[in-house]
Amino acid sequence: MKQVVVVGASAAGLAAAETLRREGYEGTITLIGDEPYHPYDRPPLSKQILGRQWEADRVPLRAPADLDGLGLDLRLGTAATGLDLAGRTVALADGARVPYDGLVIATGVRPRRLPGDGGERAHVLRTLDDALALRDRLVPGRRLVVVGAGFLGAEAAAVARGLGVEVTLLEPTPVPLAPAVGERVGRMLAEAHHDHGVDLRTGVTVAEVADGGVRLADGTLVEADEVLVAIGSVPNTDWLEGSGLTLGNGLECDEYSAAAPGVYGAGDVARWHNPLFGTAMRIEHRTNATEQGMAVARNLLRPDARKPFAPVPYFWSDQYDFRIQAYGLLRGHEEVTVVEGALEERKFLAVYRSGDRVAGVLAVGMPPKALRTWRQAVATRAAWRDAVGELVPEGA
Ligand SMILES: Cc1cc2nc3c(=O)[nH]c(=O)nc-3n(C[C@H](O)[C@H](O)[C@H](O)COP(=O)(O)OP(=O)(O)OC[C@H]3O[C@@H](n4cnc5c(N)ncnc54)[C@H](O)[C@@H]3O)c2cc1C
Repeated sequence: MKQVVVVGASAAGLAAAETLRREGYEGTITLIGDEPYHPYDRPPLSKQILGRQWEADRVPLRAPADLDGLGLDLRLGTAATGLDLAGRTVALADGARVPYDGLVIATGVRPRRLPGDGGERAHVLRTLDDALALRDRLVPGRRLVVVGAGFLGAEAAAVARGLGVEVTLLEPTPVPLAPAVGERVGRMLAEAHHDHGVDLRTGVTVAEVADGGVRLADGTLVEADEVLVAIGSVPNTDWLEGSGLTLGNGLECDEYSAAAPGVYGAGDVARWHNPLFGTAMRIEHRTNATEQGMAVARNLLRPDARKPFAPVPYFWSDQYDFRIQAYGLLRGHEEVTVVEGALEERKFLAVYRSGDRVAGVLAVGMPPKALRTWRQAVATRAAWRDAVGELVPEGA
C-alpha cells in the first residue's frame, strides 16, 4: 500500500493517520477536511468553550509540530465531493482527484435542523465556529430556548444557566433521555435542570424556528432571544451517494469496519456490526471515534490479519456539578438497577440488563474506577444473575 486517503480531519481521521505512521506505514497519507482548522476536539465546545473557561486555542487535538511530524498531505478547507470505487479516486471540491489504494471515511455527522429561519439567533452546536457564535450571545438575562434535552442540549442548558442566561429547555418525550438511560435516571436529570432554574417543558414538540422564538406544533410561540436546536444529527454521507457503498443510517460497514475492499469507515459516520453485542451500531462518542480510527488503520495495513472491531462503547457528559459516565449499550435495555449510591444524592451507579446479560453501566458523580469492574462485566457479556442477582435482595 502506497497511498492512503483519509476523508474527515477530526478525531477518527486523525487517529487513523497517526496509527498508520505508528505502525510503520511510510507511504502517502492525504488527510482531507472541509473545515479550515487543524483537527480539534468537540466535547469542550459545549463545556469549557461555551462556558468561557477556555479560549479557542485549547481545542486543537495536536500541536502544529506534531501534526507536521506525521508528514501528511493535508488538504483543509476542501470537501470531498465524490468517490469512484472502481477507479479508486476521491473527487474534491477544488476539482482535484486523489487516488488511493486504502481509504478511510471519517466524515462524522452534522446537526439536524428545524424548518424556519431564525437568522443569526438560530444556532446549532457542532463546530468551533458554532460554539463561538453561540457563546458571544450568551449574556446574563438573555433568553435562550434549547430545543432537545439530549446530552448536547442538556449540557448547553447547564452552561448557559451558569452564565446567567434564562433557559427554556423543550423536549418532546415525557422524560428526557429515558430511552437511553431509563426513566428513573432521566427523571433525576430533569430534577437537576429544575434545581438550577431551567424551565424544562416535556411532551412539547417544536415545529419551527420562528420570528421571536420557536413555534410549537400546537401553534404556541415560545419567545426567545436565541434558539439552540439540538435534535440529533445526520451522517455526512451525501458525498458518497451513487458510489456503490451502502448508505442507510450512516456508512454501512462489516465487523472489521470495512465498507468495501480497502475502504473503511470510522467514527460517528460509520455503522458497523459489533460482534461483542451481536448487533449493528453507530456510535456518536468521542472515545469510539479514536478507537475505531485506530482499528481501521490496523486492518488496512494487515489485510490478512484483520481484527473485528468489538469495543465496549464509552461516553461521558458533564452537566452542572456532576459527570455522567457510561459503558456498554444502554439503549434498548429491559431493566435498570442501582447497585451503589442513591439517585436522590446524584451519586450512584446503575447497571442495565438486556435479555439475561449485563448490557451497560452508568454512573453519576462516581470516580472512574467505580465503573471498572462493571465495564469488565459488559465486556465479558456477564450473566445478569451472576453479576447483579446477589447484590439486589429479592423483591427490591
Ligand atoms: C458539542 C459537542 C459535545 C460533545 N461532547 C461529548 C462528550 O461529552 N462525550 C462524548 O463521548 N462525545 C461527545 N461528543 C461527540 C464527539 O465529539 C464525536 O463523537 C466525535 O467528534 C466524532 O469524531 P469523528 O471524527 O467521527 O467525526 P467529526 O468530529 O464529526 O469529524 C468529521 C469531520 O469531517 C468533516 N467532513 C464532513 N464531510 C466532509 C467531506 N465531504 N469532505 C471533507 N470533510 C468532511 C467534518 O466537517 C468534520 O470536520 C460531542 C460532540 C459535540 C459536537
